[in-house]
Amino acid sequence: MPFGFSQDRFFAFSLETFFAKLVLMQIPKSVANAIAEFEKLPGIGPKSAQRLTYYLLHAPKEHSKALAEAVAQLKDKTVLCSVCFNVAEEDPCEVCGSKVRDRSVIMVVEEPLDALALERSHSFSGLYHVLHGAIAPLDNIGPDELYLKELLPRLKNGVKEVILATNPNIEGEATAMYIQRLISPLGVKVTRIARGLPTGADVEYADEMTLSRAIEGRVDF
Ligand code: ZN
Repeated sequence: MPFGFSQDRFFAFSLETFFAKLVLMQIPKSVANAIAEFEKLPGIGPKSAQRLTYYLLHAPKEHSKALAEAVAQLKDKTVLCSVCFNVAEEDPCEVCGSKVRDRSVIMVVEEPLDALALERSHSFSGLYHVLHGAIAPLDNIGPDELYLKELLPRLKNGVKEVILATNPNIEGEATAMYIQRLISPLGVKVTRIARGLPTGADVEYADEMTLSRAIEGRVDF
């Protein structure tokens, strides 16, 4: 045996080198780059990132080209509305620029997707204000990190009611309370969207917090 290795040791050493080479040869750099970029997206773990990358490798070239163009245009073709701070293609956005919306009511939401969900409910005809987050001291997100101070000047233009539609979790509640304290002295009515059981839910399986809020928010029937 060369260098005095025993046969077993030499065999183990060779296998190790063999596998090390095999691993290095496995993923081409461009593929590894794509996997790494997918992994940066929220909710995408290493397995999903690999699956998406190899899906695109096997899909027709037009598919990945269209995806690349859509991602590139995402930043180039969108703006933040300077009134409500929702993501839009024009400034002011369609809602803020509309002549038929009720300008006396503003619904405050955490994220653009929240405004979209509320809009799809066809139950609200006022304007929105998008905070882009919620107050979360543990993550170092205070009121100054949100589009919150921009809400106050909007209230001078005949706004009668501000509806707080932040999420019913600790951060959303803290944000709602902060805004309520900020706005109340200005004489504008502040309301909070109702919380309770979602449609299709069983009372038996609902958590205590949801049930207690459902009882608090009960209405005449
Ligand atoms: Zn807007």
